[in-house]
Amino acid sequence: MAKHTIVLIPGDGIGPEVSGATRRIIEAAGLSVEWVELPAGASAIEQGFENVLPQRTLAAIAAHKVALKGPVTTPVGKGFTSVNVQLRKKLNLYAAVRPAHSMPGVKTRFENVDIIVIRENTEGLYSGLEQEVVPGVVTSLKVATEVACTRIARFAFRFATRNQRKRITVFHKANIMKMSDGLFLDCARRIHEEEYPNIAYDELIIDAGCMRLVQDPSRFDILLTENLYGDLLSDLCAGLIGGLGVVPGCNFGEDAAVFEAVHGSAPDIAGKGIANPLALLMSGVLMLRHIHEGDIAAKIERAYTQVLTEGRTLTADLGGKAGTNEFADAIIAKFK
Ligand code: NAD
Repeated sequence: MAKHTIVLIPGDGIGPEVSGATRRIIEAAGLSVEWVELPAGASAIEQGFENVLPQRTLAAIAAHKVALKGPVTTPVGKGFTSVNVQLRKKLNLYAAVRPAHSMPGVKTRFENVDIIVIRENTEGLYSGLEQEVVPGVVTSLKVATEVACTRIARFAFRFATRNQRKRITVFHKANIMKMSDGLFLDCARRIHEEEYPNIAYDELIIDAGCMRLVQDPSRFDILLTENLYGDLLSDLCAGLIGGLGVVPGCNFGEDAAVFEAVHGSAPDIAGKGIANPLALLMSGVLMLRHIHEGDIAAKIERAYTQVLTEGRTLTADLGGKAGTNEFADAIIAKFK
């Protein structure tokens, strides 16, 4: 019997390509695993499931507690509610953690970037509470609750303490949204003062914060934000360190964790075999640490670091010519 059971959601667009490569690498690195492969997104409908987030997929994640998920497509401006938003809400995956750090062999404008975005995942403007008040007038409600703001603040400070991080900076717009962002700040300040005075804490209005981020990202450590700002900042931070192909992520709740890259389904390159699987593989490495398989995680990390440093087998987003599988094979070759 395999030691671990992990739900694998290939997803849409480049999802099956990058998740296939990631799965091969993790298996080649020696993980004893049974994958429970289930769909989400447009591919669920194509496979005859009743909706984009099948009950079977949700139930499997709830039962096995860990999932590795490829990206899924969400229609813009119409159609079904985002599968990701539904998944995070239904499983109460309230904390998104997205590390963006400089990578050996990946040339960018900046060096020594080591930022972790911690994003509240369940409310804010992603509550999906939109209505047409009268024709031509719509509202979109931004929800902030003391429970969720306190929960994400406590998660962030605990994470910082456990991972030897030094500082948390909240990016906010409480000068305009005095009540919702104001509550977010109040909760973060209280948790800092009462429970984690060991971690340095500061706040930046998000517009000025973005300017400082692109001037000198090396001065930031953990960025703590509500939902929408965290979504935007994750991609901004990806841009600082080499793009969406190199930024992993995970969504944590009390009972389950779903590991996925920050990038989407990339319809522009889907099916071409050229997507970079590294972001999902790095998410897999975070997952391996979560399930206490630190040695296998380190083995994979060493292998992809070598491949990046040599620079001979890189995907197009990193300036190379290799395809998804060629890149995966180069990593696997380092295990021998
Ligand atoms: P995207 O992240 O899919 O792509 C943005 C750009 O980055 C594209 O040019 C793409 O080719 C490139 N890119 C992304 N991942 C890459 C990879 N691994 N290797 C090489 N290049 C890569 O963003 P988008 O185009 O705005 O969104 C496409 C779809 O993905 C939308 O339906 C969106 O809702 C969805 N989406 C899903 C998730 C998720 O499932 N977690 C996250 C973001 C967006």
